[in-house]
Amino acid sequence: MKHLVDIHVDRCIGCTRCMRVCPTEAIRIKNEKALLIKERCIFCGNCILNCHKSAYKVYSDSFANLNKHKVNVVILPSAIYGMTKNMKELGGIYQILYDYGFDEVFDLSGVVELLSQKITEYIKQSDKTYILSQCPTVIRLIQLKYPSLLSNLLPFDFPYEIGAKIARKKLSQKYQIKEEDIGISYISECLSNFIAIKEGLGKKKSNVDYVFLFNDLFRNSIDSDQINTSVAKNGIQFSKAGGFEYLSNKNEVLSVDGVKELDEILERIYLNRLDNVKLVEAYSCIGGCVGGNFTIENTFVAKWKVNQFHQTIDESIEYVNQFRHVLNSRDWMFTSEVEALSPYKLSENINQSIVKMNQINQILKQLPNIDCCACGSPSCRALAEDVVNHEKTLDDCYILKRGDET
Ligand code: SF4
Ligand code: SF4
Repeated sequence: MKHLVDIHVDRCIGCTRCMRVCPTEAIRIKNEKALLIKERCIFCGNCILNCHKSAYKVYSDSFANLNKHKVNVVILPSAIYGMTKNMKELGGIYQILYDYGFDEVFDLSGVVELLSQKITEYIKQSDKTYILSQCPTVIRLIQLKYPSLLSNLLPFDFPYEIGAKIARKKLSQKYQIKEEDIGISYISECLSNFIAIKEGLGKKKSNVDYVFLFNDLFRNSIDSDQINTSVAKNGIQFSKAGGFEYLSNKNEVLSVDGVKELDEILERIYLNRLDNVKLVEAYSCIGGCVGGNFTIENTFVAKWKVNQFHQTIDESIEYVNQFRHVLNSRDWMFTSEVEALSPYKLSENINQSIVKMNQINQILKQLPNIDCCACGSPSCRALAEDVVNHEKTLDDCYILKRGDET
């Protein structure tokens, strides 16, 4: 995350709001300023959304990069269907993107519809409970907290990565130029996809060249415009949580959204307490991608708009089929292993870890255990851990200090 997300120290007032909403205890307050422990971050974006001082800064790419390419294509996130109720409104979105300087707009709904068909086939091959791999925060949470569930994670790459490969091939034929002369941009609906592209999650390097933020490009009111394109009727349903549930065998799909609820479901799978579920359709944002932290429409209105749009369009088999054989099946999968991470390990040495664990428990007995956060750690347990790791001292606890003074 280095150089991707920063905290403006001049704006931060150390109020602890971001630290309190971080689900993985990845934030501390030191010298009245927020500090990120990047190894623990799952990119959920809660901190950015909850900072009332706009102290978090996400560094998207510069439009000047588009000058490096003969043709620029922008991949439209599925979350866009949370802003449009019909083709005319979608036309307005395309026009905005042409005005920004993109030569082509690549709609992802066809790729997503095909991907859902491939997933439906894939999960038949075993009795295990599979976990959808489309949300990078879900993957990151599994890497950090439930590494044994990595074998349950579907091996399919993110739709924009597959879309980028298809767009590069198709447009190099259309314009008769080399694939490397095409610049591929993505408009990210959330922090999670932004970081996954920048860090190449599941691969050595992303197929997307540049990432822009949804809320930097669009505002709430969009003019309608005529457009000569198609969208995949079923594909647009996957922009919201429950898309799989809506279109497939409801009995076999469990849809979950929101980090806390997701964590509970992952724990159940880990404990083998989730029977007869073939696929967990998991998203960290409430509502799925239409509720991404950089989107601008109310999540529930966005879900309603997706359903409205769905009703206005016909089945689009021909449109979807044009993407079916562009890539070989390997190109739809992650190309690097998604590995376990262990940012909470107290030490590389097991004996040292046990010693530290005992020290933490001893310190905890002295602390008030009210998780007031005034010390700048997210809980009394986290403060005890920070003390053992020499990041803080017991003097940071205001309650203890006050007791000593009286
Ligand atoms: S929410 Fe976090 S980053 Fe924002 S002002 Fe408060 S402590 Fe600083
Ligand atoms: S993005 Fe989420 S996990 Fe990362 S620091 Fe912010 S709140 Fe914590």
